[in-house]
Amino acid sequence: MTLKLPIYMDHNATTPIDSRVLEAMMPDLTDKFGNAASRSHSFGHAAEAAVEESREKVAKLIGAEAKAIVFTSGATEGDNLAIKGVAEMYADKGNHIITSMTEHKAVIDSCKKLQHHGCDVTWIKPDQFGRVSPDDVANAITDKTILISIMAANNEVGTINPIAEIGAIARKHNVLFHCDATQAVGKVPIDVDAMSIDLLSLSAHKFYGPKGVGALYVRRRGPRVRLTSQMDGGGHERGMRSGTLNVPGIVGLGAAAELASAEMTCEASRLTALRDRLQSGIMDKLDHVKLNGHPTERLAGTVNLSFAYVEGESMMMKMKNIAVSSGSACTSASLEPSHVLASMDVPDELAHNSIRFSLGRSTTEEEVDYAAEKVVTAVNELRQLSPLYEMAQEGVDISKMDWNNK
Ligand SMILES: *Cc1c(COP(=O)(O)O)cnc(C)c1O
Repeated sequence: MTLKLPIYMDHNATTPIDSRVLEAMMPDLTDKFGNAASRSHSFGHAAEAAVEESREKVAKLIGAEAKAIVFTSGATEGDNLAIKGVAEMYADKGNHIITSMTEHKAVIDSCKKLQHHGCDVTWIKPDQFGRVSPDDVANAITDKTILISIMAANNEVGTINPIAEIGAIARKHNVLFHCDATQAVGKVPIDVDAMSIDLLSLSAHKFYGPKGVGALYVRRRGPRVRLTSQMDGGGHERGMRSGTLNVPGIVGLGAAAELASAEMTCEASRLTALRDRLQSGIMDKLDHVKLNGHPTERLAGTVNLSFAYVEGESMMMKMKNIAVSSGSACTSASLEPSHVLASMDVPDELAHNSIRFSLGRSTTEEEVDYAAEKVVTAVNELRQLSPLYEMAQEGVDISKMDWNNK
């Protein structure tokens, strides 16, 4: 089989729609066009039935009851609704929020806005692998704490947080727990009850569903979570999120959830093997390469590597037919190094020289081998031109980095 270029290795940014998902959506994009809120005719009933079926499928994927699922436009909206909705609703109870420095911008900027309006925010610093310690969360709780928001898995480095432990701490202290599980859902098992999660954001386009649709899980009992809506109007979704439902999108999300429920285990082991093959294909052939993220507690498809003595941008130029993310994965437009890598104490120059490979459902062994070879060639060529690399070869110790040498 010949290799088809370019190769897509940026699945943490978005995934293609699975053809089975598209197929499931087609009727709702064409004949079944009704408004799910139209109670007076069969067009509306058909749309509503499709939405409710999807609600069941999404709920099943995270061990929730269907009624607790609120459909949104994606995880950015889910994060905003959870954090701002809790802060407003529980303002009488307190004004303190605990989150981490490795969160997605949707969480960070929601918290920053609340901070601006008088909330007190504790930003937990992760360990060198990007993991949030449950003890740090416990120690940050005060009698004013109303919300803990910690992500399940990080989008840039793939590190998986000890969510069940953090959830148990939140529950013990009677503090609501929101989890941005956008990168974890469909990839690792999530169970809102076992993990004591009260609010959970997810997004269809991160697990082979369409863009512009997602869900927020909002616990209905033990405790019952209340939220101040951020979008007002027709009172859809139990009044928490007004707006005509995106029926085809929701059906796509449901189909993607159903596929993930069935295929997650198999897919994760296949991707772990491919990820390790890519990682060793690069690290066995090059020195001064650092793995960013946890060595084992990490998403199956994610490898984030820093290449010393090589400009990230120059490297990207040499690997034009491999789609990856560089340096500041989520703010590629800016020159700021990634806030995630910075919080893990990765020095600026290495953060700038980092590349995130994220593999997915369509990734093949051939693609992995091709990418590894391209990377090794690019790094070797660029290092030939680097005086700093030459010095390093001559044994000049220019930094005290903890190199992950082979
Ligand atoms: C992609 C992503 C988001 C944003 O999701 P959208 O649906 O694109 O708004 C939020 N959090 C994490 C961890 C993500 O990876």
